[in-house]
Amino acid sequence: MGKTQKIIVVGGGVAGLSAAIWLRDLGLECIVVERASETGGQLHRIYNDITNYPGIKGISGAEFAKILHEQASSFGVSFEKDEVRSISIERSQVDLRSGNVVEYDALVIATGVRRRKLGVEGEIEFEGKGILESGAKDPAAVVGKTVVIVGGGDAAVENAAILAGFAQKVVIIHRGSELRARSPIIKTALNCENVEVRINTTVTRFVGDESLRGVLIRDVEDGSEALIGAQNALIRIGVAPNTEPFSEFVKLDMDGYVEVDRECKTSTEGIYAVGDVAFKVSPTIATAVGTGSTAAKSIHAWIQSKKSL
Ligand SMILES: Cc1cc2nc3c(=O)[nH]c(=O)nc-3n(C[C@H](O)[C@H](O)[C@H](O)COP(=O)(O)OP(=O)(O)OC[C@H]3O[C@@H](n4cnc5c(N)ncnc54)[C@H](O)[C@@H]3O)c2cc1C
Repeated sequence: MGKTQKIIVVGGGVAGLSAAIWLRDLGLECIVVERASETGGQLHRIYNDITNYPGIKGISGAEFAKILHEQASSFGVSFEKDEVRSISIERSQVDLRSGNVVEYDALVIATGVRRRKLGVEGEIEFEGKGILESGAKDPAAVVGKTVVIVGGGDAAVENAAILAGFAQKVVIIHRGSELRARSPIIKTALNCENVEVRINTTVTRFVGDESLRGVLIRDVEDGSEALIGAQNALIRIGVAPNTEPFSEFVKLDMDGYVEVDRECKTSTEGIYAVGDVAFKVSPTIATAVGTGSTAAKSIHAWIQSKKSL
């Protein structure tokens, strides 16, 4: 009997778990390395029901994550709670934060994306102390308050419309000259009397004491600064792919996403990438599921072809 092939899947979001389920279904040994305390990735940040995944009329992110985990476990997927820090191509190994080293026959990068940060003073300090993680999670928390929303895309403007129903005032701060969100979303937000938009403006600092008290802004054209009194803020300036451990070993595009072909193969043989980390045009559950199964099928075919050599 030949050696059992071992596939390491880095990241236990939808894409990683889809790849893992399919790898097991194809008879391959598979370990999912996930750094968070539970699998599911971004599903845990979705507070409205998911209604656009074909075949499921409506489900919460947490429930979807639970079902996926149970399904992967029932297929015999192994889970390792750890973080991949780097990889060694020559030795086909991943180095984990715990100090452990694991060998692989094929590697699937399924590390998703993270929210971009502004990188300004007070941003970390006031996280959870006025700077909100989500607008939809607990909109009642902003009743009677002023909320500053940073960003001009769909997520920023959509959150402005949600929070306008609760807050006294919502101020959108956008560094560009016009909002980038889709027009129906902009229309809904701008129809709210208590939503104000400040274009050509950036945030330079979050200020406060035990909690957020205000947001310092700068006009990008004349450089003038002003302080907006605000008890809450929400930052929605886009996402960045989690590619740091792999960036030297696989080709990335100009935005840092992993480049893959139609079989989810990266520029390095035996390394695949699936879901949001590679598919910026369609960062959706459907894409994560589909690319996970594509990579698994491709890995299976590649291993079979190596065996027949
Ligand atoms: C608020 C919100 C609403 C959304 N609504 C919808 C919707 O209605 N419909 C829809 O289709 N999509 C929606 N999405 C998008 C959808 O959730 C994502 O496209 C999908 O979950 C991406 O899955 P993923 O597995 O590619 O990445 P992620 O879910 O980002 O998973 C990546 C995982 O990798 C782990 N990881 C990262 N780096 C490492 C490392 N070095 N070592 C170990 N583990 C690591 C992370 O901890 C994470 O668990 C929404 C997303 C958000 C945030």
